[in-house]
Amino acid sequence: MPDTAVVWFRRDLRVRDLPALAHACREHERVVPLFVFDPALLGGRFRSHARTAWMLGCLEALDGELRARGGHLVLRHGRPQTEVRRVAAEVGARAVHVSDDVTGFARTRDAHVEQVLGRDGVELVRHPGLYVADLAGIRTASGGPYTVYSPFLRAWKAQERRPIERAPQEIAMARIAAGRLPSLGALGFEGDAPRLDDRLEPGEAAARRAARNWVEGQGLARYAQRRDELAEPTSRLSAYLRFGCLSALELERAVAARGVARFGDQLAWRDFFGAVALHFPHTARVEFQERYRTLEWDTDDELLAAWREGRTGFPVVDAAMRQLAATGWMHNRARMIVGSFLTKDLQQDWREGERHFMAHLLDGDVPNNNGGWQWIASTGVDPKPYFQRLFNPMTQQRRFDPDGRYVRRWCPELRRVPDDRLAEPWTMTDDEQQAAGCRIGRDYPEPVVDHAMARRRAIERYRAAAG
Ligand SMILES: Cc1cc2nc3c(=O)[nH]c(=O)nc-3n(C[C@H](O)[C@H](O)[C@H](O)COP(=O)(O)OP(=O)(O)OC[C@H]3O[C@@H](n4cnc5c(N)ncnc54)[C@H](O)[C@@H]3O)c2cc1C
Repeated sequence: MPDTAVVWFRRDLRVRDLPALAHACREHERVVPLFVFDPALLGGRFRSHARTAWMLGCLEALDGELRARGGHLVLRHGRPQTEVRRVAAEVGARAVHVSDDVTGFARTRDAHVEQVLGRDGVELVRHPGLYVADLAGIRTASGGPYTVYSPFLRAWKAQERRPIERAPQEIAMARIAAGRLPSLGALGFEGDAPRLDDRLEPGEAAARRAARNWVEGQGLARYAQRRDELAEPTSRLSAYLRFGCLSALELERAVAARGVARFGDQLAWRDFFGAVALHFPHTARVEFQERYRTLEWDTDDELLAAWREGRTGFPVVDAAMRQLAATGWMHNRARMIVGSFLTKDLQQDWREGERHFMAHLLDGDVPNNNGGWQWIASTGVDPKPYFQRLFNPMTQQRRFDPDGRYVRRWCPELRRVPDDRLAEPWTMTDDEQQAAGCRIGRDYPEPVVDHAMARRRAIERYRAAAG
């Protein structure tokens, strides 16, 4: 029987620079590329119609890449312990190769799979591939994990990188039925996938094209100065990184070659939150900072709905929430603004925001999203005091959307509101409202809170919890 291995794909849907695949192809005579639709993820608390639809596109593209090399993707549906073991047994595999993941969920899952495979004498072999650096290897002088970004960044920059892996030229498959790509309906989602504007083409080839355009184009050159401007393009590579259509390491190397450190620093944030998930898995559910676990949150369904649907009466917040609904993506600065607004102005639990983002973001990723939400709720791994992350939405809008391009794009009813009123349209006089064709309370909502009062309340709440 030929020496055979399974390569179990999860969030690493590519063939280039994928150590798990490269090693399996080098070390075994036959390989079986496998993907398992896991009901625990598809129907879990972070289920997402849009992201699942996009992932199906990435899987189709991955199958195409494998077929171009003589292989194909094997698709199964069920609990990984059962399905991976079954496929490994069917092809007589000696090993199952994976890209090592960081979340508590993934690590527990993999430990279970490792255990059942072990009973059959099959080894689970973990490889790097999801992050730029070797996260487990980045340690403080005393050997502990970092909880502050800046010293993590220094250690991250200093760490030697693994070599980039080429895509295998040929994939010698063991004989096994491929299985069919399921419909969204079969995966438990009703109706068509949400139709998104700015449609992002799924898959590795599209990811590489987008990365090349970004690295060679004007965007990267302007990134350091302009990345916070809401109407400016950032790379929009996040969904590709989320599903591993693009190697974070390859991207980091390409950008480093252009000498743009600021972009690399953002990839380091991704690694930082990955390391936090790895070392502090409980923070997936609770506040990293213990003193804020007693923070009292309001539960106001109407306020939550206004926030989700982009009708809070604060233009920059509404524009951002509508951008998310329409495109499955939101600018990073906007994520911070709406996050501060939800947790500090509206006093709603950051987990509500986290869940809503996970339902809509194509790049929805547990470590990054949880890290981002805890950062903006001031409950996470950063030493900054809460009042420094209590954004004033009007000031933020004036600073990061000075000409109103972003707000007017997503809130067209404010198109004719003059620049000097655009951040606070409720201050328009009756005549101004008439001239702008925008009556507050009819065409555009009244503000749902008074920011100055909300700010004072937030400070009291955080101060009380901090003791
Ligand atoms: C409340 C909140 C929630 C977030 N949720 C997610 C999420 O679910 N998934 C996600 O990928 N990012 C998340 N982010 C981080 C960031 O907003 C997005 O990565 C970024 O906007 C994606 O757009 P881009 O690819 O154009 O980014 P670019 O600015 O071009 O950055 C390049 C890459 O660096 C990484 N990156 C950039 N900023 C951050 C950051 N602050 N934290 C971690 N990684 C970063 C991303 O992988 C990104 O694709 C969140 C941020 C906040 C404040």
